[in-house]
Amino acid sequence: MTSTAITDIAHYIGGRIAAGTSGRTQDVFNPATGAVTGRVALAGVDEVAVAVAAAQAAFPKWADTPPIRRARVLFKFLELLNVHKDELAHMITAEHGKVFTDAQGEVSRGIDIVEFACGIPQLLKGDYTDQVSTGIDNWTLRQPLGVVAGITPFNFPVMVPMWMFPVAIAAGNTFVLKPSPTDPTPSLFMADLLRQAGLPDGVFNVVQGDKVAVDALLEHPDVKAISFVGSTPIANYIYETGARHGKRVQALGGAKNHMVVMPDADIDQTVDALIGAGYGSAGERCMAISVAVLVGDAGDKVIDKLVARTHELKVLNGTNLAAEMGPIVTRAAHQRITGYIETGEKEGAKLLVDGRGFQGARAGAGCDNGFWMGGTLFDHVTPEMKIYKEEIFGPVLSCVRVPDLASAIELINAHEFGNGVSCFTRDGNVAREFSRRIQVGMVGINVPIPVPMAWHGFGGWKKSLFGDMHAYGEEGVRFYTKQKSVMQRWPESIGKGAEFVMPTAK
Ligand code: NAD
Repeated sequence: MTSTAITDIAHYIGGRIAAGTSGRTQDVFNPATGAVTGRVALAGVDEVAVAVAAAQAAFPKWADTPPIRRARVLFKFLELLNVHKDELAHMITAEHGKVFTDAQGEVSRGIDIVEFACGIPQLLKGDYTDQVSTGIDNWTLRQPLGVVAGITPFNFPVMVPMWMFPVAIAAGNTFVLKPSPTDPTPSLFMADLLRQAGLPDGVFNVVQGDKVAVDALLEHPDVKAISFVGSTPIANYIYETGARHGKRVQALGGAKNHMVVMPDADIDQTVDALIGAGYGSAGERCMAISVAVLVGDAGDKVIDKLVARTHELKVLNGTNLAAEMGPIVTRAAHQRITGYIETGEKEGAKLLVDGRGFQGARAGAGCDNGFWMGGTLFDHVTPEMKIYKEEIFGPVLSCVRVPDLASAIELINAHEFGNGVSCFTRDGNVAREFSRRIQVGMVGINVPIPVPMAWHGFGGWKKSLFGDMHAYGEEGVRFYTKQKSVMQRWPESIGKGAEFVMPTAK
């Protein structure tokens, strides 16, 4: 194993780094080399309480700060992010493993949300009705909730927190982030950029940790809302537990995203899309395509090219700018994915390309002990198979053959997940029918990874989202604010005498 200096990764509370006091830590790895590079503190209940108290103390003043002044802090944060975005991308590659250019893309999509949040004065504008009754006006405004928390997954250590905190703090809340302990370093870097941008102490806090910290946030009476992104069983748990403790919860879960290929689709474009969306970020994206639904004779046209391209994938250390795919995030994830490939074989799917046995040495110097595998491709996968039903979250693409569009829609609508979906076709009517009938939250027509832009909001259906508000966009603003209605009149408009009947417009 390569010897590297091991960094202690702490919390960030009340505007400063706070060393862990629980005595519990977790190793952080560079997945490309397999080396331990950090040791992240795992917060106990007391440390979470300190972070929530810091956020609670900062809330009244921050909530009272005019939205345009809050936005100015975010504009400054945006400037700093643009200066430091490659540093952030390097941190992502070092702890997650995804290739540097992909990490740059992740940071850019996070920056989009900060840009959106800079428009908070407009987003909080409210509405007003003059003269709802003679001499009476009525308006609605949205006010922040208080302390809100974000619990985020390993696969987007910068972008997913940025789905949450820019909108939450722009709206006047204070925030406690609980990042994934797998790749915790970028959270502290973002906290420092926010400090440099002039964010008051306590408005943004980071507690590193695991289930102990999550449960402490779920149970803390001062935490008013929880945003969660991660796997479906945990999303379900967060939703139920948070609701039981009287909190607002949006909990985004796992996925099994299908891409339908119609016989009229451009085959080269389709293959490019499947390769990029299936194996980009080693398939560790909640919007990765993991099932290709090949309709009619599209199947035979696509498969040979797909096999060749899967063999040609440039699986390299993510720091290499030529890399198309990096390592798997952890040894445990590597074992889980390998297990699914074995299951697929046993279930009778046709294994066309086997990514197991890929030697790390091929990925670059020092990679021998990293968590490496190549791309895997299965054909003739059927809906009863475990590899079809479950989220594998790795570089494994399953092809399912169906006779027509109706069967493709029926197949997808029967799946328990409903995060993203895509259809490749040249036929406008097919595209329209598909996007209307499909029971999935985010739809791409000739777009393999239709992650909505910052002002549209992100969220799946079915077991991919618990709660009703999507992340970011206008739904994000609604999630982090509560509506108040004010009705007002002045003494000149008040008639004499008490009224005992239900007030109506006069
Ligand atoms: P995960 O569910 O294991 O972890 C997510 C967060 O929950 C982490 O902060 C983790 O520390 C915490 N956590 C883990 N186990 C817990 C427990 N038992 N109790 C309380 N908290 C716990 O997910 P992951 O492996 O980090 O991320 C991958 C998953 O996230 C995939 O399923 C992927 O589809 C999903 N994801 C979904 C979206 C989306 O928008 N729907 C986006 C990104 C990732």
